Amino acid sequence: MSHPTPPRSDDRRRDSAGDAVARPLGGGERVRAMPEPPSGLPTDFARGHSRWMLGAVGVVALVMSLAVGRWVATLYRISDNRRQVQLVLTQLQALANSQQALAELAVQGGDGARTITDRSDDNVREGIAALGTIDQSEHAGDALIPIVDAERAYRLAVTKEFDLIAGNDLGTATAVLNGEVKHDYTELSQLLRDGITAHEDAALRSRKLADASTILALFVAVAVMVFLASQLTRARKHAAAMTGERTRSRNSEERFRSLVQNSSDVITVIERDTTIRFVSPAAERVLGYLSNNLLDSRLSSLLHTDDRARALTLLSDASQRPGVQKPAVWRVRHADGRWLYMENVATNLLADPTVGGIVLNTRDVSERMLLEQQLTHQAFHDSLTGLANRALFRDRVEHALARDNRKAASGVAVLFLDLDNFKAVNDSLGHGEGDRLLVGVSERMVECIRAADTGARLGGDEFAVLIEDAPDIGTIVAIAERIVAALQLPFVLQGKPVAVGASIGIAQASSEQGAGDLLRNADVAMYTAKSRGKGRYEIFQPEMHAAVLARLELEADLRHAVERGEFRLHYQPIVELGTGALSGLEALCRWQHPEKGLVSPATFIPLAEEMGLIVPLGRWALLAACTQARAWQERHPGAQGVSVSVNISGRQLLNASLVEDVASALRSSGLGAESLVLEITESVIMHNTDETLHRLKDLKSLGVRLAIDDFGTGFSSLSYLQRFPVDILKIDKSFIDGFGAGGNDSALVRTIIALSDTMRLRTVAEGVETAEQADELRSLGCILAQGYHFARPMAPADVDKYLMREEALVS
Ligand code: C2E
Ligand code: MG
Ligand code: MG
Repeated sequence: MSHPTPPRSDDRRRDSAGDAVARPLGGGERVRAMPEPPSGLPTDFARGHSRWMLGAVGVVALVMSLAVGRWVATLYRISDNRRQVQLVLTQLQALANSQQALAELAVQGGDGARTITDRSDDNVREGIAALGTIDQSEHAGDALIPIVDAERAYRLAVTKEFDLIAGNDLGTATAVLNGEVKHDYTELSQLLRDGITAHEDAALRSRKLADASTILALFVAVAVMVFLASQLTRARKHAAAMTGERTRSRNSEERFRSLVQNSSDVITVIERDTTIRFVSPAAERVLGYLSNNLLDSRLSSLLHTDDRARALTLLSDASQRPGVQKPAVWRVRHADGRWLYMENVATNLLADPTVGGIVLNTRDVSERMLLEQQLTHQAFHDSLTGLANRALFRDRVEHALARDNRKAASGVAVLFLDLDNFKAVNDSLGHGEGDRLLVGVSERMVECIRAADTGARLGGDEFAVLIEDAPDIGTIVAIAERIVAALQLPFVLQGKPVAVGASIGIAQASSEQGAGDLLRNADVAMYTAKSRGKGRYEIFQPEMHAAVLARLELEADLRHAVERGEFRLHYQPIVELGTGALSGLEALCRWQHPEKGLVSPATFIPLAEEMGLIVPLGRWALLAACTQARAWQERHPGAQGVSVSVNISGRQLLNASLVEDVASALRSSGLGAESLVLEITESVIMHNTDETLHRLKDLKSLGVRLAIDDFGTGFSSLSYLQRFPVDILKIDKSFIDGFGAGGNDSALVRTIIALSDTMRLRTVAEGVETAEQADELRSLGCILAQGYHFARPMAPADVDKYLMREEALVS
């Protein structure tokens, strides 16, 4: 498939509405990618949030554990310090105790007491110094000041005692011992005991607090760890779930993208004003446009003008209502200019942030639509002529009447048309030619009607015309006349001119009349036109109904008449003009109707032909006439050379069984073939075919004679008749009627007789009613005649009498 070169994007054409028009497909361009869905799902936020929270908890836990650790360490240090202080104080107590013992010993004369005391004095001083360092940070020094002071006082008292002892003042020394020393010792001991107890309690309290804090810290740590672990597990699970979800989402997105890219439907995202925002690559295959070239153009610019308003209304409706709309079909222009029927399903996704437009799923349904149109056309049109069929015609009539009812005067009329000679053509020339004839008729009919009128073929050789808005009956009649005249002209079938003609019934709509009534009235008028001589039109009159009904009744009766044996043959003599002698007898059929009496063949023969009853009726007439003639020949010696003429209809001639029917009638009656004349009307011979000619030759070969009946009415020339194996020419009554009226019928008859003589044909003048006519014919050289002047058609019994009278005359 070749595509036109793509124009540049800036020279995008604009249609009359000013819409940007999509450019057709160009090579090598790529379709715009699908819009990406926004990254970051709502769950990401939750995930980030929990991470922050966990971090914060971790930091707080760390800070707390550091603080608690520091606090516990401090408590333990305090406890240790107190314990050390307690220890030093205990040592000081012991030292004070031993000092006191030494002080007391020294009074009793111990020499080394002073040295020991000095040494312990140093110990005490170290201990006190150590106390200072231990307790400094805890401000315990203040608590030790009284002890240090007491110890200093006690030491001064002991030094005083030892100095007195050294000065051998034992008495004063003893007094100092018992006084100052003991007092200071007691005070120091008390202070030391209090200090030891206080520091022991403090050490114990600190330790307990430290222990409790440790346990609490441990507990808190475990709780935090459990919390963190659970949070971690949750976070992990969440992360796994998120990963799965993202994978799924990515997969589904890829699947969606793939579906859109590969869908056979064209998927288009448009804005409210039909501006195309996205179109799937299928647009290239279906519509011949490169997707990129459609972007930013208006969808409306691609729509068929007849469909545009409807499509835009539908799209506007779709933009008002969220969700999926019902499918709608409209025509879209293909890049190559064709119009495609596209079925569209609009989905309003304007509120969906990932789409933000109206999504159209579009598929090419052109084939389906064409098929539907074809089927619809077939359902309402005649396949042969393309005219409306009965169903559509009736529908049009109904609509016309519905419209017409609102007006004062009716302008609606129906013409009902039936071909006069179709069956004969169809039977003789075959269905192919019959079809060609019907097409020809439809063409001529359509040429005669106005564009606003509807021509229809109702079936077979029945046609109809619906006339609307006719100003008067004159217009309607003019149309009918035109059609009758057009169909009177012969058609050329198989290279020969064939006249068919048509009878038309006209019915005008009157108020409160349905389509059925109107069609029936037109049909009745057509029937009437047929019965009044064919090749004409009749305007419906209410009284026609009765006549048509009577005819329909007759048809029903005729059907049974053959079985019931209601037919009779009457015989009319054919005489020699010169002598008046009987030459032959023409068998003329009569219908003895149980109620109506004798019915004329002019009434029932055409009916029997139309109904296909003529073949069995003709067969019966042949046998009856032959049998009767044979009987007369046997009964009346004078009737030996008398022949019997039997009328053969055109339909019989087309029937292959005719030759056998004739042969069998001759056989079973015993009548000689030379005594049988078969009369065939001129019009039947006119519509001859090779088949007719063959049949006539076959009949001739049986030995029977052939007569052309009603000669002069069928416009055939004598030279034309030369082709046929005919023996007798029966000049039609209408020529004889014209004798003596100042016309030139005598001259015509003279010519016919003269030419017949040269062709060795015998002539019979039909319908001779007067002696003048007989004389005229005689003078013109006519040999044979038939008519009321000589004898009327008679029942067989009367013929017997006639024959006997003849015999009597001869003898
Ligand atoms: P046709 O074959 O031309 O028969 C002659 C018709 O002229 C007969 O009418 C006859 O009664 C009538 N006729 C004879 N002389 C006169 C006359 O002097 N004045 C007038 N006014 N009429 C005269 P009929 O019997 O009514 O038959 C009419 C037509 O019916 C026949 O015309 C023939 O075409 C047809 N027909 C009659 N019997 C048969 C039949 O058995 N088979 C077929 N196929 N057609 C038949
Ligand atoms: Mg006849
Ligand atoms: Mg005749």
